[in-house]
Amino acid sequence: MEQSPCQTSRIVRHAYAWEVAEPKVLLFYAFTPLPDPEAIRLWQRTLCEHLDLTGRIIISPHGINGTVGGNLAAVKTYVRRVKEYGPLKHLDVKWSEGTGADFPRLSVKVRSELVAFGAPGEVIVDAHGVVGGGTHLSPQAVNDLVAQRGDEVVFFDGRNAFEAAIGRFKGAIVPDVKTTHDFVAEIDSGKYDTLKGRPIVTYCTGGIRCEVLSALLINRGFDEVYQLDGGIVRYGEAFGDDGLWEGALYVFDERRTQTFSDHSAVISSCEACGTPTTEYVNCANLACRALLLLCPSCQAAHGPSDCTPSHAGRR
Ligand SMILES: [Zn+2]
Ligand SMILES: [Zn+2]
Repeated sequence: MEQSPCQTSRIVRHAYAWEVAEPKVLLFYAFTPLPDPEAIRLWQRTLCEHLDLTGRIIISPHGINGTVGGNLAAVKTYVRRVKEYGPLKHLDVKWSEGTGADFPRLSVKVRSELVAFGAPGEVIVDAHGVVGGGTHLSPQAVNDLVAQRGDEVVFFDGRNAFEAAIGRFKGAIVPDVKTTHDFVAEIDSGKYDTLKGRPIVTYCTGGIRCEVLSALLINRGFDEVYQLDGGIVRYGEAFGDDGLWEGALYVFDERRTQTFSDHSAVISSCEACGTPTTEYVNCANLACRALLLLCPSCQAAHGPSDCTPSHAGRR
């Protein structure tokens, strides 16, 4: 179909206009020594404010970890600028569709750890990343490993139990952890020692938690440890719901969950009525805000008076 000159100019103008609503969400991290995290924090804050990006960025002497959302053009500029800084030129960036309101504000902080395992002294980082971590496997390489070694392979979920509740690798071990901080005690409890000698594939949302978790496992005598490169996000991009992954992916923005196809399995159910659902909401009691798995009709019926003491451990 032919376009009138007027239509053409409109299309061209829109293609370059800043306000074109094409929202994207970035998930990224890099383990690399950053001797002056405070300077990086100021740079990141200024850059994000200039580009009108919102989200959360954590900077530590070990590197950077963040998720930000904004319009396509702004987000592209952000990635280009960040990679201009030598230590971050190999920044691992994952893109996904946003809604335009994925993060209420911008938060840029300096912390002692990129991911809060509570073991900053155990993580050694050089220009190539974490020293002594598990072998990185691409999504295809994970499938190949399972094809070769079968049930000997153990998937080890590197996330919190509530994330694994709605989606995980088939047959995965889901450690009983409420926060990343609980992992060291969980591993040190000895309950996974029978896995020593077996091939263990750690996985998490985007890969960052496994960079540390795999090193912690190796330090504790697990001898064949792999980590899923790019995490569930990259695996889902490669195989959707037709591989070894099952269910929905919990994401730490307003979207809450992400699925990889139109036929993703629903492996979790509403804690009030048992209907299959993957929808997390916060308890309506503002002093509680526990994360609850409720189907849409139970969400509509849930009020502050439905808060129970059992929510206490789930905030
Ligand atoms: Zn329900
Ligand atoms: Zn509650």
